[in-house]
Amino acid sequence: MDLPWPQLERLSLDPSVQEWDELASTVHAFLQEELALLGSQPVLQGEEALSSEQDLKSFLRSLFGSGFNAAHPGFMAYIPGGGLVTSALADWIVKTMNRYGTAHFAAPKLAELEYQVVATFARWIGFGPGFAGVLTTGGSLANFTALVTARRAMLPENFLSGTIYCSDQTHHSVMKAANLAGFSARNVRIVPTDRDFRIEVAALKSQITADRAAGLAPFLLVGSAGTTNTGSVDPMSELAAVAQAEGLWYHVDAAYGGAFLLTDRGRKQLAGIAEADSVTLDPHKGLFLPYGTGGILVKDRDSLIEAHELRGAYMPDLDRAQAHLDPFSLSVELSREHRGLKVALPLMLHGEDAFAEALDEKLDLAEYAFEAMDRTGTFDMLNRPDLSTFAFRLLPTTQTDKDLGDLNRRFLDEINSAGKVYLSGTVLHDTFALRVSILSHRTHQAQIDTLLEELNRAAGHVRVKG
Ligand SMILES: *Cc1c(COP(=O)(O)O)cnc(C)c1O
Repeated sequence: MDLPWPQLERLSLDPSVQEWDELASTVHAFLQEELALLGSQPVLQGEEALSSEQDLKSFLRSLFGSGFNAAHPGFMAYIPGGGLVTSALADWIVKTMNRYGTAHFAAPKLAELEYQVVATFARWIGFGPGFAGVLTTGGSLANFTALVTARRAMLPENFLSGTIYCSDQTHHSVMKAANLAGFSARNVRIVPTDRDFRIEVAALKSQITADRAAGLAPFLLVGSAGTTNTGSVDPMSELAAVAQAEGLWYHVDAAYGGAFLLTDRGRKQLAGIAEADSVTLDPHKGLFLPYGTGGILVKDRDSLIEAHELRGAYMPDLDRAQAHLDPFSLSVELSREHRGLKVALPLMLHGEDAFAEALDEKLDLAEYAFEAMDRTGTFDMLNRPDLSTFAFRLLPTTQTDKDLGDLNRRFLDEINSAGKVYLSGTVLHDTFALRVSILSHRTHQAQIDTLLEELNRAAGHVRVKG
């Protein structure tokens, strides 16, 4: 589609103070209006026609006026996040100041702030001194960084017979990372999961034994601290024990579940995560930050540096004692914005307690929604939530409804097209299922009650009357 651009008054490349004021207040007014309307607009929006006679505000409004709205309080699809405005403001500051955010020598205090954020995450995980980490753009890049680091540490010369272990519920970004890092599907072992969608440890062990007997080189085990499908948490400590006994690198993908380490229940669920060699976090999920913030933590600082450190003649010599302060020594990226303030400013302004309370609320809401749905007898509840996500299917009423997949696809469409809440589906054990994931800072009891009403209404709509 051709997107007509509005005819705007031209500004110089470095706008005057007055021009800047006017532009900034237009943008500010747009954002205030949109945020005020957020909850009352449908979460699924239609296409709005763009006219060529537009000012900036109406152009922006129409740009954001279609698709599903992941910032909406009723958004419970995929893994929500919400988007804290205080983090967006930090990004505005950082991008306006535009300091070189990848090296300590360029902007020492900013590099130190980013390291403090990484150290905060290390504290939540329970890593002792000697860790390193870097803020990425998301969980996928974090998983890739972990995989490359593990490969370099475990199989530095020849990795073609290396094998990687994950479950049939592992996020696809792990397979993608394996692919990008030079492994084929032959190198990746997909271990089955149990009824609660957690990895089957016995099956894992026998697969490792069989691979060794076949002359392969098992080197990496990936556990999920909250799967994307059902929020299920793999047995963290049991996996650590397997990795230890077998001499594998143990990576935990906590992109969804990691933030729950701020809560008592989350710490209990994730107990053992401190034994991992590396952990993926995704603050644009569980810390409610706007999209664009992930993180990778590695227990042994040198491994992360070994895998990524390489510099051109135009750069200063390596100082090993402070390479952990240089994001470019820890990541595939070179030039990039400073990424610490967008995490640190919300933590300073709201306090860690506010995040812990909000996450506790999500755990309560998930339990409440699960119990209420279970009581109706209308649904096959596929997992009791370990955290704030669960999957379910609408049960058929008659023989005519016997295509469970089709019934549930129509059910999902009926819920989403009404625009009050937004859910997503997946395939579990070969059959389509719906899922509820509660993780936005804007989702509260009222939205869960709306969800329950909508489920009831849509069920009545799609089921054949028996
Ligand atoms: C979302 C997610 C990812 C990928 O993270 P992105 O930020 O979307 O790249 C990886 N693993 C899990 C478990 C996730 O939920």
